[in-house]
Amino acid sequence: MKRIVFCGFRGTGKTEVGSLVAQQMGLPFIDTDQLVEEKTGRSIPSIFSEDGEERFRIHEREVVADLPATDVVVATGGGAVIDPVNMEHLRPGSVCVLLTADIATIERRLAQKPRPPLTGLPLSEEIAELMERRRQYYYAAADFCFDTGGTSPETAAQAVLALLKNGTTTLTQRKTAMDFFRAGRIPAPALAALEKILIAPDRDPQTRILGVAGYPAAHSRSPALFNALCSRYRINYHYTWFESPDIQQIMQVARETDAKGLSVTIPFKRDMMDHLDEIGDRAAPRIGAVNTVVFACGTAIGYNTDWLGIRKPLVPMKGATAVILGAGGAASAAAFALTDLEMKVTILNRTPERAQELAARSGCGWAEWDAFDRIKPDLVVNATPLGMVPDTQSPLRDDQLKKEMTVFDLVYTPPVTPLIETARKKGCRTITGIEMFVQQAREQFYLFFGIDVPETVVRELVS
Ligand code: NAP
Repeated sequence: MKRIVFCGFRGTGKTEVGSLVAQQMGLPFIDTDQLVEEKTGRSIPSIFSEDGEERFRIHEREVVADLPATDVVVATGGGAVIDPVNMEHLRPGSVCVLLTADIATIERRLAQKPRPPLTGLPLSEEIAELMERRRQYYYAAADFCFDTGGTSPETAAQAVLALLKNGTTTLTQRKTAMDFFRAGRIPAPALAALEKILIAPDRDPQTRILGVAGYPAAHSRSPALFNALCSRYRINYHYTWFESPDIQQIMQVARETDAKGLSVTIPFKRDMMDHLDEIGDRAAPRIGAVNTVVFACGTAIGYNTDWLGIRKPLVPMKGATAVILGAGGAASAAAFALTDLEMKVTILNRTPERAQELAARSGCGWAEWDAFDRIKPDLVVNATPLGMVPDTQSPLRDDQLKKEMTVFDLVYTPPVTPLIETARKKGCRTITGIEMFVQQAREQFYLFFGIDVPETVVRELVS
């Protein structure tokens, strides 16, 4: 038996619907707000007004960490799932149900049982602002979504029980998806896993899928990494390959199988922008590409985590002089990361017009390829595929590398490229493409599931 966790904004019916579901299933029901009140002997409004929200969150974190692991229905407080530590405790072995409702309904419900204000805003504005701020976290927590606006708690409870029993997809949709997966170059064990999840008579309707969208996608290390992470955190998901030359078909299959999300790779990072309902961060529109799609409550939201993977290891180099080699998607993410760190960036590219175009939209400079020596950069970022297997070339001559330089090669197959090898021989500080992969994958997992995986764990899994 699993643990069922209800999450969502206050006033969406978590307590009412959760307790009815528990009753129907013959399971105990726990409300984390009530546990906080019992533990402290005080009401939540008094904790908020006397000690502040931060103190309440500490109490909440303690009760979440102590929840029973199984055979229970839990209703969480409206802000509980924002905390990645709470998610690390809530997710293992659980199915998480996100309840939603429109602002007017929530306002009407909250008016009947006053709660402490979380901002100084009028109630409807507070609801709108907090819901927007928290949406990413609610979507990360959502295995199933149900809109309780316009329904009674009894109807909502029946609908949630039906979702848990049957899932959200039809057999026809899943059979069509299976044909799609069979047409891609997916390893046999992964195809067998998909058959079990999608079309086997004894399938678990609560198992969901997600995957990497690309063409080709077979080279991707994401399936191995994400499946290992799902096992580690006991999350009932399977990560696979959405491989097709047709992005529209990929999105259709993802929506029809109620996929949780997609990692996006070549050649779709740019085109994917046209297949989304929304963009979820400030970076993606500036970079002009997304590498992550999260599906929840019928909406596809795109994000870019590539730039975060480039930025993280370069934080100590704020303000440096940098050269980016290349002017494609990865170079665009690098330009955003480096300018965010206030670096003086020059873009060099085989096709100078593309360097010029990227420079103009990213606030960087550009130059002809042979300007490298004149610039004397502190940092070189290789964002071309030169050095990627089976290619053994380096984008720079050996004599162009100086020991004072930091060399970051975004290529990660092989982990030690010819450029990195030479840079190490010259005594340069080097950063491999694996580092970018690790950091961007951590950010992606956080967007998919709300858990902040330690760097050491991801590094160990990809090594
Ligand atoms: P892309 O959009 O196709 O851009 C490739 C860039 O490299 C273009 O500017 C292209 O120049 C240049 N280029 C290609 N072949 C070249 C050659 N033979 N000589 C000189 N320049 C050449 O590719 P991308 O998505 O940016 O990916 C670039 C690299 O980053 C790939 O190797 C990819 O694996 C790596 N990457 C790594 C990660 C990670 O997590 N570590 C994530 C994303 C990407 P033109 O404009 O002249 O065609």
